[in-house]
Order: sequence, then structure tokens, then C-alpha cells
Amino acid sequence: MTDTDIQKGQPKLPMQGVAQPSRAEVLQMPRVHISTHPVMAHKMTKLRDKRTQPPEFYRLVKEIGALLAYEATASLLLEPRAIETPLESMQGHRLAGGIGVTPILRAGLGLAEGFREVIPDVQIWHLGLRRDERTLQPLEYYNQLPHQVDLQVCYAVDPMLATGGSAIDAISILKKRGISHISYLGIIAAPYGLFKLSQAHPDVDIYIAALDERLNDIGYIVPGLGDAGDRQFGTF
Ligand code: URA
Repeated sequence: MTDTDIQKGQPKLPMQGVAQPSRAEVLQMPRVHISTHPVMAHKMTKLRDKRTQPPEFYRLVKEIGALLAYEATASLLLEPRAIETPLESMQGHRLAGGIGVTPILRAGLGLAEGFREVIPDVQIWHLGLRRDERTLQPLEYYNQLPHQVDLQVCYAVDPMLATGGSAIDAISILKKRGISHISYLGIIAAPYGLFKLSQAHPDVDIYIAALDERLNDIGYIVPGLGDAGDRQFGTF
């Protein structure tokens, strides 16, 4: 929005007139993983439905987070671990190195909880970024990243990849802390956000449950599910 727009009394909406790629244009991008699991599609429909109330919405976000975590961790590295079963000794495996999950506050909290149900000993590193409603730019207001970093991978989690601004910033912050292997995990992406994130961080794998059509003029994903934070926490 420019001062001239304000002076004219016609403030421009943040995505108004902004060119957006189509689904087809971003579908073939490398490192983009869109769930094809029927259970995911079933849960997504309940999640999107406007009649779904916050307690059920939050439960579904956690369940979807667990399913996404299962898919996104399929290529994690293992190390050998010797154990004894009640019958004999054997060589087993455990996940190599630490696993970090960075929920972007506050909407990422439910997804992080779901992730934790799959791998209970993940480190949760909270990061507070909020969108400036006027410019859609992310602003950092809370950061609980540890100074000692020794992780196999860190997952930045945020349900809605809309303009991509928060995800791009969160991943830049993680990289500055020395994390070399980072993935993004979210519920719904708009082609615009997916494109921007892939461009800004081409080394990051992106795991999502659905790719929607577009952003509307105020930056909401369409058809989407509305505001993921408000719907999880009942703040309408
Ligand atoms: N954030 C949300 O919660 N929903 C959207 O559609 C876009 C950003």
C-alpha cells in the first residue's frame, strides 16, 4: 500500500493485483511432497468444514500433524543399537542425532503436538512470528531457540503456507543458528507461498497435506480453512 493509495482513499489490499502461479505450475517443483493418503483426505475435509468447532479442529490438526510427521520422517537416518529381547540379543536401530520441531506461534502449536506423538523426544523450539495485517510481512516477537545445536534435522511447522513470508523467515533464523538440514511441514499451501518458499530455500523439503487454488486479496488461502490460529484456539 502506498501513501498515494491512502491519500486517494482507496487502500490497496495486500494481494490485490499480485500475479500468482497456478497449481499446475508449482506441482512439479522439486522437494515438494503432497500427501496422497486417503486417511489424510478424509481428515482434511472435516478440518476445512466451517461447522467443525475448535476442540475437534485442534484434535484434527494434531492428527494431521502426526500423519505428516510420519510421512516427513520416512528418510531419517538410523544408527545401530544393541538390545536384548526377552529371548536373545539383537542389533536394533534408533534415530541418529536429535530431531527439532519449530512451531511458528501460535498456529503451529497443534501440528507440533501431533509431531510429538510420533516422536516423543523431539526438541520443541518455539518461534513467535506474526503477520503484519497491512503489509503481510512477518515480525519476530518470541524466540526460544537453544544456543547448543546438534540435530539431524529440524522441522519448521506452520499450518498455512500462504504468502510464504513467515516460513521463509523462520527457516532463515534456523539456518543462522547453524541448522543445516531443515524441512517445512504444513497443512495447506497456496501455489504462491509454495513458489516463494522453494525459491528462497531450494534446499528445504516441503511436506503438506493439500495444495489449494490461490490467495484471496487479503492473503487467505482459498478454498482453505479460514484462520488456522483462531479455529484451533476459539478466538473469533
Ligand atoms: N493464515 C491462516 O490462518 N489462514 C490462511 O488462509 C492464510 C494464512
